[in-house]
Amino acid sequence: MGCWYLVECTNCDYKVESSAGIDEGFFGKVQTHVCIGCNNLVDVTIEPNEHMKDNPNIDKCKKCKSDKIILWDTEERLCPKCGFQMTVSENPTTLWD
Ligand SMILES: [Zn+2]
Ligand SMILES: [Zn+2]
Repeated sequence: MGCWYLVECTNCDYKVESSAGIDEGFFGKVQTHVCIGCNNLVDVTIEPNEHMKDNPNIDKCKKCKSDKIILWDTEERLCPKCGFQMTVSENPTTLWD
């Protein structure tokens, strides 16, 4: 079961729904990354499921297809836009699986 949380910046108005760490669902294992290509927080598929082996978005940003991604530090939780700390909602906002 994969869940999304609302991740919000405390400084700018950037917010995004994200699994905010490692999560596993229908498509496989995902982990939250910062994409250098489009400067967004993105959940990247790091381990596809058996039937999703042909997924072209493995280890890539699903928004801009860039493979310039770095792991999002779930302790620091820094905003990719302004570098301030972001908050993660206590309860999931969306169940995507
Ligand atoms: Zn920000
Ligand atoms: Zn991107």
